[in-house]
Amino acid sequence: MLSESAQDYLKAIYSLRHENARATTNALAARLNVTAASVTGMLKKLAELKLVFYEPYQGATLTPAGEKIALEVIRHHRLIELYLTEAMGYSWDQVHAEADRLEHAISEEFEDRISTLLGHPTVDPHGDPIPTKDGEIAASSRDTLDTSAEGSRVRIERVRDEDPALLRQVADLGLLPQTVITIGSRPDGASLTVYLADGQPRCISTRIAQNIFIVDAP
Ligand SMILES: [Zn+2]
Repeated sequence: MLSESAQDYLKAIYSLRHENARATTNALAARLNVTAASVTGMLKKLAELKLVFYEPYQGATLTPAGEKIALEVIRHHRLIELYLTEAMGYSWDQVHAEADRLEHAISEEFEDRISTLLGHPTVDPHGDPIPTKDGEIAASSRDTLDTSAEGSRVRIERVRDEDPALLRQVADLGLLPQTVITIGSRPDGASLTVYLADGQPRCISTRIAQNIFIVDAP
């Protein structure tokens, strides 16, 4: 059984690659809050286990076996997040930290029961796709709201889930996943106006917009 910390590395490499970033020693150290020396040590171990390939300048990539484990942990994480919101009354800003702890602890049996109880869901409370049991994962958008053009109509697909304060602000603004909005002007360059279906304008900061992923809406 792989240690929790090794599982966290595989997950971090997966998410950096998904963001089109290189999983370098420094990037992993920052993401996992550890020293560069510990990253080097762990990557060596994971390479010996044939879970990652590591090249100093390219950073780490997952082997098919490493990716399978990363997706399994991500499946646990996202099912737990959904279970906590749907069945236990947690709000969407409270579940990420809980899921980070619980994702390593649950058995396959527990995972199957949560999935069945929730009707085999495909997305978590933040709009992120839940990998299937076979390790398939739906594609998700990498386009953020701050890059969309004035006048375009977009649907919010997902919101980055690590920062609880940001999630609360996004919920207060009514910008939940699946919401369709129209992009307005950028009055001062640092903020963006968007219109919800009710025609009400919302003024949002660039920082918030950078954490909201969107797709074109018909
Ligand atoms: Zn999530």
